[in-house]
Amino acid sequence: MNQTTSSGAPGLHASAGKVWLVGAGPGDPDLLTLRAARLIMGARLIVHDGLVDPRILAMAPAGARLVSVAKRRSRHSMPQDEINALLVREALAGGEVLRLKGGDPFIFGRGGEEAEACIAAGVAVEVVPGISAAVGAGAAALLPLTHRDAASVVSFVSGQCKGLTDQNWAGLAGVGRTLVIYMGLATATQIAEKLIADGLSPETPLAVVENATRPDMRVLRSPLAALADLVERERVQSPALIIIGAVTARPPSELRQVALEAIK
Ligand code: SAH
Repeated sequence: MNQTTSSGAPGLHASAGKVWLVGAGPGDPDLLTLRAARLIMGARLIVHDGLVDPRILAMAPAGARLVSVAKRRSRHSMPQDEINALLVREALAGGEVLRLKGGDPFIFGRGGEEAEACIAAGVAVEVVPGISAAVGAGAAALLPLTHRDAASVVSFVSGQCKGLTDQNWAGLAGVGRTLVIYMGLATATQIAEKLIADGLSPETPLAVVENATRPDMRVLRSPLAALADLVERERVQSPALIIIGAVTARPPSELRQVALEAIK
């Protein structure tokens, strides 16, 4: 397929380079798309998040400039508007900028804000999707996010949004539904309280998947009411997802371990 170039398109600076918003997937480099791998291997400038796996950054050519704009909760090393400005500045100077983000750029990745900043500045932008953490975690943990016997709805929510208690998650979890919570570790207590107050059974099964698709992945299970205890007792670290619903009790526990061992 032909890529659009900045030259002919209306409203874009003819002499500007381009920003590629590229999903790096959940960790395992084998889960990159071919397009992402090709772009990384040919990159001159990579602006990346802290979540991007070092094995993926190591695929960049020797002369490539790697700029980390790592974000950690409560320790933002570069505010979002500065990241946007950096992308725009480099592209307006004629450079091809590879903005590499964990998972998929448009799932809780602020990719939408970066794309809009580029478009507003007349810079061409192209998005390369990546495997989002939920999809990667489901596969790696042998945990189907939908299953004809257990769930026909799956929702992705952020546990880190402003005003968690004001968010309406009603109907997102419960019988026949899977709820995947990104960035939910710090608010695990409030999340469980909120869902139980919304009418979800405290016995609802859940799984916490830490470092999904990476060699140190852990899959921990508990009932909803024990979520905060689990996170604390097991010292769960970011990045981790909380997956809530009947699918997390699949495959049945006696089969699960054997199956997971087989794919190690
Ligand atoms: N754009 C990313 C999400 C960015 S938000 C995506 O599509 O996956 C960052 C959150 O994603 C983390 O706090 C964590 O909840 C989740 N996450 C990212 N990578 C993960 C991984 N390898 N294992 C578990 N959770 C992960």
